[in-house]
Amino acid sequence: MDFNFTEEQEMIANSARAIAKDFPPEYWREKDLKEEFGEEFYKEISGVGFTGIIIPEKYGGSGRGMTELLIVMEELAANGCGMAGPWYLILSEIFGAMSIVRHATEEQRARYLPGIASGEIEFCMALTEPDAGTNTLNTRTRAVKAADGWVINGNKTWISGADRARGMMIIARTTPKEQAPKKTSGISLFLADLPNPAIMVTSIPKHGINYSHSCDVGIDDLKLSEDALMPPLDGGWHSLLYTLNTERMSFTTAAVGIARLAMSKAIEYSRERKLFGNQPIGSYQALQFNLAEAYAGLEAARILNFKASTLFDSGAGITEVGATANMAKVLAVECAFKAVYWSMQTFGGLGYARDNDIERWWREINLIRLAPVTQQMALAYIGEHVLGMPRSYADT
Ligand SMILES: Cc1cc2nc3c(=O)[nH]c(=O)nc-3n(C[C@H](O)[C@H](O)[C@H](O)COP(=O)(O)OP(=O)(O)OC[C@H]3O[C@@H](n4cnc5c(N)ncnc54)[C@H](O)[C@@H]3O)c2cc1C
Repeated sequence: MDFNFTEEQEMIANSARAIAKDFPPEYWREKDLKEEFGEEFYKEISGVGFTGIIIPEKYGGSGRGMTELLIVMEELAANGCGMAGPWYLILSEIFGAMSIVRHATEEQRARYLPGIASGEIEFCMALTEPDAGTNTLNTRTRAVKAADGWVINGNKTWISGADRARGMMIIARTTPKEQAPKKTSGISLFLADLPNPAIMVTSIPKHGINYSHSCDVGIDDLKLSEDALMPPLDGGWHSLLYTLNTERMSFTTAAVGIARLAMSKAIEYSRERKLFGNQPIGSYQALQFNLAEAYAGLEAARILNFKASTLFDSGAGITEVGATANMAKVLAVECAFKAVYWSMQTFGGLGYARDNDIERWWREINLIRLAPVTQQMALAYIGEHVLGMPRSYADT
């Protein structure tokens, strides 16, 4: 058991820290306010190879693992970028590259991976539907076989990055749930190029993370060629779980990074601000103990999350990785929530000001409670799959 980064991982972390310092909170404050994509940042992270970390070298990436990707995400977040650092990497590497590296055909890999690695191809994942959020198996988007390929129809919602992505992974039913031998079969994954006149994208005004748009997506008679299907036909559920596990780890890392960022700002202030005599507010136990408790939990969640990525990188099974990733996510989010809350409290009224940035990180951390999986569903997974308890909900 070794809890230290390797020399190479340390170097990767250092280079992420250096980039984050060039894109400080003020940069993201403006991007969030103006609802603008961080073009300069994206150019920088793709230029140094961060958009190709998990992509094999033969496709232009650096062939590292999930652990290295998490290291980059955390350092970007914790050193000034907040959610933006992990977010852009989640869109391209987790929603795009991860599934393609693991499950696509050789032709599909050659088609998409070099562009994702270089930053030319941004990606998005169209999974959630108005009537199939937490219950993914209720996916209604339907892909029907045609003579020369596939025709897809359906509605997706909250698809982040769909307004500017050039690639989209679409999760669709190739066999309706009622006709499938098991409810987990009959789901397939497709790769579509964007923009496409059959895919209508409308941005949803939202609470935070406004340097990236999340969108309603209408898919109307989308015609795709035979080779748009990522194999195996009807067996996409299993492939999807791989991606969803890594998505979970990425959001956990984001929570840890955002919390570190907010806490460092609050702690610095708490050492200087004096209100009663010569005692800095950081010495008051209400502030100090809450931040200390949050930090202890964050450190535990961080280690657990790196355990999940190490299991994933060494080829462990979906359930083992999923259990660890869900436990890390539940713990990280509650502790990050507490950390950002008490960081905001440390600043008193100032914490509520837009210029202070903590209010933005508060909005960001709120997302991680409900996406990519809600805390309730992560707990349900732990209850059922780790503790062996009866399923907590009716599953039809
Ligand atoms: C900003 C943002 C970006 C997103 N980006 C993407 C994206 O890029 N691609 C994509 O596909 N999706 C995306 N999503 C969707 C996100 O993954 C879903 O919102 C999330 O999975 C929850 O689904 P839902 O919103 O349908 O909530 P619902 O499934 O309707 O759940 C509502 C509430 O009921 C609770 N609940 C439901 N079932 C149970 C149960 N059995 N036991 C206990 N509680 C239960 C949930 O915990 C939740 O609190 C994004 C969402 C947001 C807000």
